Amino acid sequence: MKLTRRGFFVLSSAILSSIILKDKSYATSGKYATLIDITRCDGCSNEPLPKCVLACRVQNKVRFPEPKKPIIPYWPRKTYEDWSDKKEKIDTLTPYNWIFVQKLQIKGKEIFIPRRCMHCDNPPCVRGCPFGALTKRPAGNSVINEKICFGGAKCRDVCPWFIPQRQAGVGIYLHLLPKFAGGGVMYKCDLCKDKIEKGEEPACVVACKDRLKEKSVFLFGERKTIYELARQRAKDEGLFIYGDKQNGGTSTLYLSKVSFDDINKALIEKRERFKMPVEVKNKIQTTFNPIGKVVISSGFLSIIGAVVAAIISKHKEKGGDENGR
Ligand code: SF4
Ligand code: SF4
Ligand code: SF4
Repeated sequence: MKLTRRGFFVLSSAILSSIILKDKSYATSGKYATLIDITRCDGCSNEPLPKCVLACRVQNKVRFPEPKKPIIPYWPRKTYEDWSDKKEKIDTLTPYNWIFVQKLQIKGKEIFIPRRCMHCDNPPCVRGCPFGALTKRPAGNSVINEKICFGGAKCRDVCPWFIPQRQAGVGIYLHLLPKFAGGGVMYKCDLCKDKIEKGEEPACVVACKDRLKEKSVFLFGERKTIYELARQRAKDEGLFIYGDKQNGGTSTLYLSKVSFDDINKALIEKRERFKMPVEVKNKIQTTFNPIGKVVISSGFLSIIGAVVAAIISKHKEKGGDENGR
């Protein structure tokens, strides 16, 4: 496909803005936090699938990708990431599964760990995206704008937990440089942004609460309250905390009877893709490369947004949908 004038404009704007815009500081914490108490999680062993996982899938189904096939890898790559034939897979993170429950055996005991985006205080994914497709919201959540994302996976490269997952054959790159740029769209948990903006709790939190009532694994609330509660319980009950210091702090705190060193060792032994290292340095604050230090201004986002909206509108006139499908 030829590079259109519009496509050229988008790419030129992106490159130019990346060069000229300066770094600026980011909010370090948001309004909310989630406590995930793994001492209480049984992996929903008496259910067909974990309630938190099911709730997330139901909540976000309308946003799951529907790739245009055949998918063509962009030059010089020979492969692409396609999860569309594995939509039902629930034992890992995929573009169709934004939370999953890890199962471990440590010293004869079973441990279940719900895993999803940590919603970092200073998220490298947000600051590393050259197209400004990710934003950190006042609630504390980091959110991918699927209409702007090119699927370059920079966010995943800089995420200490490897959270965002890519689906090829969908997104804006198909209308710009399908053979030379972009690999699809990245997907991950956005902390149920639409629900929390309305003052509701995330779907996974509600599902676990419905099942376990006051013994719910998840607790969602004001960040200060959640932090204080987690620290108090850790002190009173001799529990280990994860997420308060890692990557410079996050909006997701785990409580566990087993140390996170032991948990991470078990994850490594099991060759799990998603680990929980205790020492997690924020790549933005340490050895990040220059392009990653670029912060895309709201002005640039407006330009991109306007151009993307124009492209999508043109595409819709031809019978396509909002996600560029
Ligand atoms: S977090 Fe709650 S809903 Fe999810 S697997 Fe554990 S017990 Fe079930
Ligand atoms: S966990 Fe990864 S994807 Fe989530 S906010 Fe942090 S860096 Fe971004
Ligand atoms: S907060 Fe919402 S999007 Fe994130 S894992 Fe839970 S249900 Fe899914």
